[in-house]
Amino acid sequence: MNTKRNLLLVAGLLLAMTSQAQQNDRIPAKGFAFHAEDGHFHDYEFTRHPIGDNDVQIRIMYAGICHSDLHTADDIKALGGEPCVLGHEMAGEVVAVGKNVTKFKVGDYAGVGCMVNSCGHCTFCDIDKEQFCENATTFTYNCPDAYHNGELSQGGYSDKIVVSEHFAISIPKNADMKRVAPLLCAGVTTWSPIKLSNVQRGDNTAVVGFGGLGHMAVQYLLDLGANVIVFDITEDKREDALRMGAKQYVNINRPEEMKGMANTFDFIISTVPVDYQPIEYIRMLKYGKGEMAIVGLPTNTTVKTVDLILSGAAQRKVYGSLIGGIKETQEMLDYSVAHDIYPEVEIIPADAAAIDEAYKNVLDGKVKFRYVIDMSTMNK
Ligand code: NDP
Ligand code: ZN
Repeated sequence: MNTKRNLLLVAGLLLAMTSQAQQNDRIPAKGFAFHAEDGHFHDYEFTRHPIGDNDVQIRIMYAGICHSDLHTADDIKALGGEPCVLGHEMAGEVVAVGKNVTKFKVGDYAGVGCMVNSCGHCTFCDIDKEQFCENATTFTYNCPDAYHNGELSQGGYSDKIVVSEHFAISIPKNADMKRVAPLLCAGVTTWSPIKLSNVQRGDNTAVVGFGGLGHMAVQYLLDLGANVIVFDITEDKREDALRMGAKQYVNINRPEEMKGMANTFDFIISTVPVDYQPIEYIRMLKYGKGEMAIVGLPTNTTVKTVDLILSGAAQRKVYGSLIGGIKETQEMLDYSVAHDIYPEVEIIPADAAAIDEAYKNVLDGKVKFRYVIDMSTMNK
């Protein structure tokens, strides 16, 4: 009896020691977290989960600022909650690998986008659409990580990340690292529907919202040989659109420029981040053929079904699209680097006040076209 009890005690002790060891193995990290109380970023120290057998640790070199980060900051401010490190566009260098890792070795370049884990064996994971995992996709930040005891995931405005190798995207050594990070979200989110809608040379296409996502869409569409018309709200980006190769720029605040567009487009992608009327653009699709992909995420935008049915918008296809799976993210990245397709970026220092200011500028329409934080400048 005593022996059995002693064995149980030893087993319990070993379990406690292992769990303590796992706690001790957690990896200290530093970054910038958004705080609900004052609505600002602050320096933030936290820990990442230990490197599992299938994980890689990446030293983050550059992190992009996506408008989705701003939406999340708004949510955190409205709902309260833990401080959270945002950022889901990362490019960096692999500094450690778990024992089963085959895709990377130390010294390789790797990127991380909007998700860091999924179950790997459901209907959607099986078809490389991990973003729709039936069990649990772990999105890169502010998401309970079902695969790591429900801890809140922490994003890319930080010095390092630990991620399953499957969710790390291989970046070729000849890539322009300063500009590569936004491809991990802005790139794939526009690439994916352009591929799905099978845009062809000579197609008439429109990009609504000419920001971080929009200017990537313009580049992919032009690369395919499509004609591109850009819609945005000010005069500030007219020259940029024409310089990049758009056939026409439409300032939607000049009603005369919106005329004569009905039944025009084979494909429209909308990246608008604020509430608007998608039906206006749906009417511009070619009857019986045109397709519109909606990727912008304003909170309260709706399309009335009655408008879809009665407005003459019938016989067009409208769909929403969420980022892209890991396989297509890798395809997009390889293609973009090989064809020299990159975002236009403004590099900012890794500094909480600089990130606060960048957020304000994105809201005020002052960035051309993506802010990227140079993480190497942290604490310098
Ligand atoms: P940006 O702020 O970089 O770009 C948005 C652009 O839209 C800006 O040029 C802005 O102009 C313009 N704009 C604002 N209002 C209108 C309007 N009414 N009509 C036309 N254009 C308008 O944002 P991002 O490109 O980073 O993100 C765009 C949206 O896409 C966000 O809602 C984001 O959350 C979402 N997103 C969705 C993803 C998905 O998987 N579906 C993935 C990533 C992002 P100005 O600069 O002058 O304000
Ligand atoms: Zn994004």
